[in-house]
Amino acid sequence: MKKSSSGTGKTPAVAYQIKPVDPAAHLFEVTMSIRQPAADGQKLWLPAWIPGSYLIRDFARNIVSISATSAGKPISLDKLDKDTWQAQRTRSALQVTYRVYAWDLSVRGAHLDQSHGFFNGTSVFLAASGMEEQPVEVTIKAPDGTQYKPWRIATTLTRAGAKLWGFGRYKAASYDELIDHPVEMGTFDTAGFTAGGARHEVVITGAHDTDFKRLVADLKPICEAQIALFDPKGKRAPVSRYLFLTTTTADGYGGLEHRASTALICARKDLPFKGMTGTPDGYQTFLGLASHEYFHTWNVKRIKPARFSPYRLNEESYTRLLWVFEGFTSYYDDLMLVRAGVISQEQYLQTLSRNISNVQRVPGRHLQSIAESSFDAWTRFYKQDENAANAIVSYYSKGAMVAMALDLTIRAQSKHRRSLDDVMRLMWQRYGKDFFTRGAGIEEDEMPGLIQEATGVDVSREIRQWVYGTSDLPLSRLFRPVGIDVKKITADKAPVWLGARVVDRHGTTLLASVYNDAPAHAAGLSAGDQVIACDGQRIGSADALNKLLARTQPGQMVQIAVFRGDLLQTFDVDLCVPPSSGVQLTATPGRARTRAGKWLASQANK
Ligand code: ZN
Repeated sequence: MKKSSSGTGKTPAVAYQIKPVDPAAHLFEVTMSIRQPAADGQKLWLPAWIPGSYLIRDFARNIVSISATSAGKPISLDKLDKDTWQAQRTRSALQVTYRVYAWDLSVRGAHLDQSHGFFNGTSVFLAASGMEEQPVEVTIKAPDGTQYKPWRIATTLTRAGAKLWGFGRYKAASYDELIDHPVEMGTFDTAGFTAGGARHEVVITGAHDTDFKRLVADLKPICEAQIALFDPKGKRAPVSRYLFLTTTTADGYGGLEHRASTALICARKDLPFKGMTGTPDGYQTFLGLASHEYFHTWNVKRIKPARFSPYRLNEESYTRLLWVFEGFTSYYDDLMLVRAGVISQEQYLQTLSRNISNVQRVPGRHLQSIAESSFDAWTRFYKQDENAANAIVSYYSKGAMVAMALDLTIRAQSKHRRSLDDVMRLMWQRYGKDFFTRGAGIEEDEMPGLIQEATGVDVSREIRQWVYGTSDLPLSRLFRPVGIDVKKITADKAPVWLGARVVDRHGTTLLASVYNDAPAHAAGLSAGDQVIACDGQRIGSADALNKLLARTQPGQMVQIAVFRGDLLQTFDVDLCVPPSSGVQLTATPGRARTRAGKWLASQANK
């Protein structure tokens, strides 16, 4: 037997205390104690971005006050840049106290009011320069007041004295670990299950009427399918405890992966309710999101690009490999739903058809490759403007298509003995399972070699074309060996095509985006134009315009009047037939169908 060391032993090099001090003003107060500050003046810094979300967010702008003391006396703090401070020299321990404004209801920041608190460590914990590899402790305190007595804590931080679900002391082996365990506090509901020997809990914050029984019945096999993919023999989860930290809102959607948990935001209407039949689209979307983030527990939290090892959190970290880490994950998220038996093969093929159609609709796919899209995520994918559809491609959705195309190529060329699963397992064995001790990641040009090693199939030409080039995928050729028929369809149901996305915004009807080389563009219309009339009839909504266009024929000319800025302009638009950029996938009956079954139901080499 081993003596427990939790809560005992000497003070750690860095210790934090965090407490909601004014929930109505959305303020957390953090006190940071550094036992032995640097002799030349301790530097402190806050990340500018959060791993998994590739945008500079400058979290330090939410530090609204900061001060320091040492040996009971005030110490000056110099601000060196937007997220770095330096304390005056001192030979005694240093205490830094600061308040953080937390009013960002997203999975990426921090949020606090009288109903709950949520934070990512990247928003609230300053790092002590030079001590990032040292173990830390953090004491999480409840807000003052009897109304907060029922509050509990949900986090995968290691407990160091705190009770399960309790406020109190937690610890982490390093700063990197500290900021990878978000914390939820409040009066959430939970439901749990065991998968791969690990306790999994769904934690739901916010109004909801979830049928937990149904949710658990679906989530558990999804987790088990993923565990079986990476560890087909042992079937062990890579963590001992996992949390799905879910916040419900009216219409939110988003998720962020962490090493033993995920933070999710979803529309409350997407969660299952008692008496619900089948799997409505919204619920499938939620399951796909949960599946996506869970898959990241392996792919990106442990199997990582070398460029993210370690993360450089004060500036952009560039990699051309997000098509592997987000694209492969996006391919497997829905695939796991069908493998787990949560959706049928027909439902999966419908979902896949829709996803492929969405990629093929955007002209930007001919200008930007998914390697470039990965590299430029910081300034382009995460900063999309009205021209995005014409200029960029998503490393998520086209990355998922490329993952599928590589999977089907490997299956065909290995006579259905190998698959992308073998590649995932090799990446897991070589890089993922020991990541936190070895810290090695995948080099930028390593994927073709890894795939060949795992499967014996050389896909370097395909990767050149599909990942570094911008050509469309040969869908019919890819799907034929698994007995799936590819039919080209028009993505739009309307008889004519304008080639613009029309939305209602602030009481006006706007062209949100205009696709290059489509009728609206050819006529001279532009994104941002405010639609006033069509053929002399007033247009009061996007729906009104669509209804009017639905009564026209291809080849017909309509006159559209818009305000561009404050000037009235008219454009003659030559409407055309909607392009057949969509696809419909259907499994063909017979022997080939068993191959589709093999692809969608199990691992190829079983
Ligand atoms: Zn992701």
